[in-house]
Amino acid sequence: MADCLFCSIIAGDLPSDRVGENEVAVAFRDINPRAPVHVLVVPRRHLTSAHELSDDDGDELAAVFSLARQVAEAEGTADGYRVTTNIGRGGGQMVDHLHLHVLGGRQLGHIDSLTGDDG
Ligand code: 5GP
Ligand code: ZN
Repeated sequence: MADCLFCSIIAGDLPSDRVGENEVAVAFRDINPRAPVHVLVVPRRHLTSAHELSDDDGDELAAVFSLARQVAEAEGTADGYRVTTNIGRGGGQMVDHLHLHVLGGRQLGHIDSLTGDDG
């Protein structure tokens, strides 16, 4: 999609620190990491957010999560990590191309901490 930051990164038109990919998704390091491991797993297909997923997208979604698992294993945090996705401005989403945050490499807070401003 034109004028989409993550579409441009996936196409290679903008640089990124790519750490993995499969036929469905690409994984690259977040430019502003909030944890020792902070990787974005981004489906190649442009969807604005997870809210646009449909009942037919199961195979694609499984492949996205498969890449997230591979990233966690390769980064050495498979014993404990978080996969999250933000939806809409109210949900903290800043880049309007569906992506998973894979966070790990340190002790992460309890789910209660996610509901505050420090999330
Ligand atoms: P969101 O708030 O949409 O869930 O997350 C967007 C993420 O993209 C943020 O964590 C932000 O640091 C990251 N980000 C923004 N611009 C870039 C960029 O140009 N390159 C990379 N690698 N990450 C970016
Ligand atoms: Zn896009």
